[in-house]
Amino acid sequence: MQGYHAAMSSGLLTIFAVWIAGVGCRQNGAAPPGTGPPPPAPHVRLGVAGGPFRVHRTDHFVVSHNTSTTVLRGLVNRLDRTYEAVMKFADARGLVDPARRAIPLEVLFFDSYEEYAAFARTRGESADVTAGFYHSKDNVAVFYNTLNRPDVADISRQIEGARAQMLALRNEGRNGGSTQVQQLQRQIDVWQTQRDAFVDQANRVALMHEAAHQCLFNLGVHAGGAVNPTWLVEGLACLFEVPQNVSGGIAARINGNRLADLRSACAAEAADDPAAKPDDSACIGPLPLRDFVSAPGRVGDRSRADIAGLYAQSWAVVCFLQAEHAEQFTQYLCSIRARKPDTLPTGAEELALLEAAFGAPVETLERDCAKFLRSHKAE
Ligand SMILES: [Zn+2]
Repeated sequence: MQGYHAAMSSGLLTIFAVWIAGVGCRQNGAAPPGTGPPPPAPHVRLGVAGGPFRVHRTDHFVVSHNTSTTVLRGLVNRLDRTYEAVMKFADARGLVDPARRAIPLEVLFFDSYEEYAAFARTRGESADVTAGFYHSKDNVAVFYNTLNRPDVADISRQIEGARAQMLALRNEGRNGGSTQVQQLQRQIDVWQTQRDAFVDQANRVALMHEAAHQCLFNLGVHAGGAVNPTWLVEGLACLFEVPQNVSGGIAARINGNRLADLRSACAAEAADDPAAKPDDSACIGPLPLRDFVSAPGRVGDRSRADIAGLYAQSWAVVCFLQAEHAEQFTQYLCSIRARKPDTLPTGAEELALLEAAFGAPVETLERDCAKFLRSHKAE
């Protein structure tokens, strides 16, 4: 999760999918789940203060939570949907490690923002810029009830206050057409839109994104412990920020938020470059693909001003490769996954691996990626 502030998506596009079959890579051979006593609940294993916690199990997750049943239901619905989309994507590509299918994924879900923030600090995360995170070392995804975030709770109180004022005016005999009542109603609408947009963003960008990271690592798509290019890890998680339509291992739905971010980054770049044409559509993000792939850690630097653009570029490159070069993309994932934990590839090696996997110079891939992106509209 990164500090991500984007305009809300107003819709989604779909792209054509093709069937891929018989593609996969050698499995990692993870140990199957043991037959001993069941493992402790996530909050017990992680020694979490606060609570009291209850434990909720789904087919794929075990959630320690102290929220209401209604709030919990919203979380687990999204978790399960994300898992199913990632599973469909990975399974069709032969990327799922069979030994990992039955292992439930652990989640901590705090009702209070303060408890979440205290736990986040123990893991080096800042609650200010995250609405949730996946901690790979502890292998746990951590979220909180977004409605209890202080700024969101403030908006809710303002809405309630305005509603009470409206009721008082009506009780005084003023009808719904009075100017004061109309102004209050307009203000309530604005606050509600702001609050809903924030909660929607938290659900998509934090919950579904972080759950996708957890699924991708635990199903064996990524190499746990080895160096994975950050743009590849983030780009894949960004695919699943929207309810995905996976067909034949291809995630077909376009992420409208990330595409809009990409267009903004490219427009900003064109504005800085006097030689650029207004319709310069060869842009696929803040960096040329050669530099982007050669410096894969750059996407992980959250302090960068262009971080939203770099995440958008990660999404764009992964979206293009997995859709238009499906088989090669699977083999590329396999070759990354086969890395030994102590392998530290150089930028030149990362670039060479990409070009070898897709059988084309990086400039060709960049041109084709731009063409792919031009065929979709930001909404
Ligand atoms: Zn991420």
